[in-house]
Amino acid sequence: MRQRYSLSTYQRMITTEVHKLFTKNHACLAKDSTCNKVIRAHIIPMSALSKIAEDHEVYSYWPMSHQQLKDIQLYHMTSPRKQPISKVSTFSGFCGRHDNDLFEPIDNHPIVPTQDQSIRLMLRAVAQSCYDAVRAPEIITKIHSGRPPNKLRKAKNEGETLDQLENAVASREWARTNLADVLEILRGEKFEHVRTLFLRIDQIPDVMCCDIIVLRGGLVDFENDRVPFSTVTVSADEFGGYVHIAWLKDSPIAAHFIDSWRKIHFDLNRLTRMIFTYLYNFAFRISWWDSLPVVRRKTLMELCAYSVHTFFDSPDFDKKVRPLVNKQHQYHRYDTVKVYEY
Ligand SMILES: [Zn+2]
Repeated sequence: MRQRYSLSTYQRMITTEVHKLFTKNHACLAKDSTCNKVIRAHIIPMSALSKIAEDHEVYSYWPMSHQQLKDIQLYHMTSPRKQPISKVSTFSGFCGRHDNDLFEPIDNHPIVPTQDQSIRLMLRAVAQSCYDAVRAPEIITKIHSGRPPNKLRKAKNEGETLDQLENAVASREWARTNLADVLEILRGEKFEHVRTLFLRIDQIPDVMCCDIIVLRGGLVDFENDRVPFSTVTVSADEFGGYVHIAWLKDSPIAAHFIDSWRKIHFDLNRLTRMIFTYLYNFAFRISWWDSLPVVRRKTLMELCAYSVHTFFDSPDFDKKVRPLVNKQHQYHRYDTVKVYEY
């Protein structure tokens, strides 16, 4: 299908626009009359990132560079980039006042987690997804209205554009609804609406993340406006490493996912593969990555490419990468020392 396009034109348009999706937005997501200046904050706290930094750097995929996006289009995989922790996992989605109000209890205190902390961790991951989706419709419009290649068959392309645009708008609305729901749960202290799984692990995790994961084989289906999701945070505090997963209690798919993961004793190798496949906001230790066998790295690089493939037209991609998600590989040797569920 993609052969209709001139490859270079297509690449230039799409990498420029997709790049914006992950880099440009400055507005408070909790906007009200008390807002002050929007600040740049870290979704994965600097204090946690500094525990895995080497020479103040970690590997990260986000925001993707133009070269990385191009690699994904051409080779269906791309390498991570070394980035200073000051630039990793940053977010300009809240004003200073709201950022402090909403996240002080998880930024400056050890994670127990109390129910209140659990919802704040969830909120931060949801906000991250909201931030990404906000500009999607505008960007998709630009990709398709910009410079249509000469040989383009118009009718077909308009159909595709419409689908993508509808999805992007639905995705934005979905993310905003989730954010509003979680804010309401937090402010109304309706703790019973959220379920939590919290694992204390015996090491500082090599891979840290804070993001939403959509639980339908990982694929988003916006036909139903209540797409089940959970949030995943892997990070560290003064007690050590932890994994935090939260979901809305009326989400049977999330509960099912937790049950199936429990059957394999919360295997964190499986979680790492899911992070590389379905999440955007994650960072990892350079020496850990460099110590992995080439074949393991290749698998993770392909899985990561999967998370942006929907922006590109690559018919065989899904078929090729999907089986990799379920492969059994060793990436870490963590032990879970304590499991909390409520
Ligand atoms: Zn604000």
